Amino acid sequence: MAKKQFKAESKRLLEMMINSIYTHKEIFLRELLSNSSDAIDKIYYKALTDDSITFDQSNYYIKIDADKQARTLTITDTGIGMTKEELETNLGTIAKSGSLAFKSENEMKDGQEIIGQFGVGFYAAFMVADVVTVISKALGSEEAYQWESKGADGYSIKTCDKNEIGTKIILNIKENTEDDSYDEYLETNRLKSIIKKYSDFIRYPIKMDVTESQLKEGSDNEYEDVIEEQTINSMVPIWRKNKNELTDEDYENFYQEKHYGYDKPLKHVHIKVDGTIRYHAILFIPEQMPYDYYSKEFEKGLELYSNGVLIMEKCSDLLPDYFSFVKGMVDSEDLSLNISREMLQQTRQLKVIAKNLEKKIKSNLQTMIKDDREGYEKFYQAFGRQLKYGVYSDFGTHKETLQDLLMFYSSKEKKLVTLDEYVSRMPEDQKYIYYATGENNDRIERLPQTEVVADKGFEILYFTDEVDEFAIKMLQAYKEKEFKSVSSGDLGIEEDDKEQSESEEKDNKELFEHMKNALAGKVKDVKISKRLKSHPVCLSTDGEISIEMEKILKSMPDSQNIQAGKILEINSNHDVFQSLKAAFDNDKTKLNLYTNLLYNQALLIEGLPIQDPTEFTNDMCKIMV
Ligand code: ADP
Ligand code: MG
Repeated sequence: MAKKQFKAESKRLLEMMINSIYTHKEIFLRELLSNSSDAIDKIYYKALTDDSITFDQSNYYIKIDADKQARTLTITDTGIGMTKEELETNLGTIAKSGSLAFKSENEMKDGQEIIGQFGVGFYAAFMVADVVTVISKALGSEEAYQWESKGADGYSIKTCDKNEIGTKIILNIKENTEDDSYDEYLETNRLKSIIKKYSDFIRYPIKMDVTESQLKEGSDNEYEDVIEEQTINSMVPIWRKNKNELTDEDYENFYQEKHYGYDKPLKHVHIKVDGTIRYHAILFIPEQMPYDYYSKEFEKGLELYSNGVLIMEKCSDLLPDYFSFVKGMVDSEDLSLNISREMLQQTRQLKVIAKNLEKKIKSNLQTMIKDDREGYEKFYQAFGRQLKYGVYSDFGTHKETLQDLLMFYSSKEKKLVTLDEYVSRMPEDQKYIYYATGENNDRIERLPQTEVVADKGFEILYFTDEVDEFAIKMLQAYKEKEFKSVSSGDLGIEEDDKEQSESEEKDNKELFEHMKNALAGKVKDVKISKRLKSHPVCLSTDGEISIEMEKILKSMPDSQNIQAGKILEINSNHDVFQSLKAAFDNDKTKLNLYTNLLYNQALLIEGLPIQDPTEFTNDMCKIMV
């Protein structure tokens, strides 16, 4: 048997290939199965144009046999086979794709897509095998040939016996090394899962003998091992099926089978696009947040298939961060893959698909707000924060996309409302969208600052998430209505008695001056409140930084002691005000004591720490005795 040599460059190329282009050894099986599928497709195609060939789907299959003793893994197909010349050119020449040639020789129609194109996939076999033997008999040929190679050394070809048309590839699986285990490629379960993962939607059955433990006949407690030939792949991908043939349950099963999540998805979106870039996609909105969602381990992305063959498990470019909760897959026949078929050559196609998907996700969420409020609220509980981060991130670039998806708890409705709902029922004299921040709804409900706004009958949005206020600062306004904190300097509410409050302010100028000095460095100003009804004091802020923001910024690792500009507001209708006036006239020490107490009370209401709790309690005691 004459040995032929690879050309010198080919040798190097083969070594390079085997060791570097693939990230996972397991994909050798994907490559070999893709080739077998292509080979069957070619017969199918020939049958379309040649009456002497009949194509009966049931006669075409791929079979996998693992023999642990012999350490061989055999892949047999009933495809078109290879002649001696084809074995030489297609397997003896690296980067020579017989499939690519077939495609251009035969004008192939849509839906008859052949996977191969680079002419390197076959060599992936050498990642797991030290000897590869290919026995093949081509369609229309009487003879069969055996091709054999140990990799970079070269290959040999001889005639051999084979009855059926098709190809048999025998891999001598490598011995385990210190670093790598190869035994797994002889394990039925491992092989099964590799097939499921990458080749589940190969159009022809991939069969394997599986040992099952079954009840012995005539017995109800004795089991025996039975060898059974099973078809491992599902063949027809659910996304290629017609939507009307599929039930919610079918989608849910797919979600579970794919391990997209352990929950039941709230919604699925099945997309078929026939534009310049053709693709199918199934997207899911999960119900629950994955446990690792806010950890470094979480990776966003969709599964990416090229013609039913899995290319990438998590293609992150398909999803923007703010929709990172979406699960699902995209299958396209129009992707230009790179040589390892694990990456794409150009991202333009992906960008087009990603843009479309983003629009679809948004419109589906919006439909949910209208048609499945309960579902949307569930979704929002789980992922609303991510949308708010989205508004805030990238300097507000995505706010237009996201603002209609936001929801906040409302003082009026006592449930989540959208900004659109809020704005559409604003009374005419209401200028702003009011919000209050705090730890939780109960606490916000009792904030003194909300009194006047609530009294006016204006709705207040409750911000309980850290990101809320930051996101809203980024939005600034919704439908031309600006956002306004109930603690901000000017509330934009017409006063009933403007003159009276102005004269009060004037009359008590010195009192407030004195109090302000007593609180030097702590507050920017002390003044009569226009927002308090029953409470004696509160803090408001002046400037961009609110008290809630100060708290959040303080809790950050590199906080720079950023402070909100605080104003101590006194309710002039409260009895306490009379006490302050009296103390101002008669006893300045007492006034200082009162001032400190009121300031500390205001801090407590805001949930801010009191600088000196001991002093505060001592002050309390002083007024008791
Ligand atoms: P590609 O699939 O990208 O063309 P491969 O290296 O995987 O490259 O395969 C090279 C060529 O070998 C294929 O194009 C095909 O012509 C031929 N070939 C490989 N496996 C088979 C097979 N099982 N049956 C028939 N032809 C095959
Ligand atoms: Mg191939």
